[in-house]
Amino acid sequence: MNAGKLKIVLLGPPGAGKGTQGDRLVVDCGIPKYATGDILRDAVRSGTALGLEAKQYMDAGELVPDEVVLGMVREVLASPESRNGFILDGFPRTLAQAEGLDTLLADEGFKLDAVLYLGVPDEELVRRLAGRRVCPGCGAVYNVHTSASAAKGTCDSCGGALEIRDDDKEDVVRNRLRVYSENTEPLLDWYRTSPTTLHELAAVGTVDEIYSELLDLVGCS
Ligand code: AMP
Repeated sequence: MNAGKLKIVLLGPPGAGKGTQGDRLVVDCGIPKYATGDILRDAVRSGTALGLEAKQYMDAGELVPDEVVLGMVREVLASPESRNGFILDGFPRTLAQAEGLDTLLADEGFKLDAVLYLGVPDEELVRRLAGRRVCPGCGAVYNVHTSASAAKGTCDSCGGALEIRDDDKEDVVRNRLRVYSENTEPLLDWYRTSPTTLHELAAVGTVDEIYSELLDLVGCS
């Protein structure tokens, strides 16, 4: 894959490691990552109209309406930084979003280089999501099983107290996995038959092992 100006989508269930792997690609490929979940959480924290609307869906593990999310993505793709490539993380999540993305890309004169699918069995997802800890101060993400902070409960980067994301609590996780299999999993078939290259990875193993496979595919170093 051409390393310059890469435009990729990271697809996979919640807890597959899209955020963790995407952050590493940001550094090695020198391109921005747009995570719709992060944009929405920022909006909730800032108490904007978008945040107020999104919160009720996020708290329940449901999807924020397509037109709201498509509006956010339209804005980031129109920004000058996107001309040099980007990673979309957590978007698209429905067929309507995938179709909407095609339109947004065409409007900007962009073409996706690849969709990278991170596949992880459900029991492993539940384990990973239960182990996830986030720093509300600086946004750093840890996992007690795979990438714990040096001092338990404290952020290595800013010293903040780590928290469990509200939607990583067990009942919400179950709903997010259901929502994923009903709404997002069908995208795999959609991309399998679309002209965009789809790479399907078994995203099990260590973070480093999975990342090295991803790097081989995207060709940044
Ligand atoms: P994430 O951080 O990607 O797990 O997203 C957290 C929550 O934000 C999801 O459970 C949804 O409520 C919402 N969300 C994030 N991305 C999308 C999207 N593309 N479409 C609809 N809702 C989304």
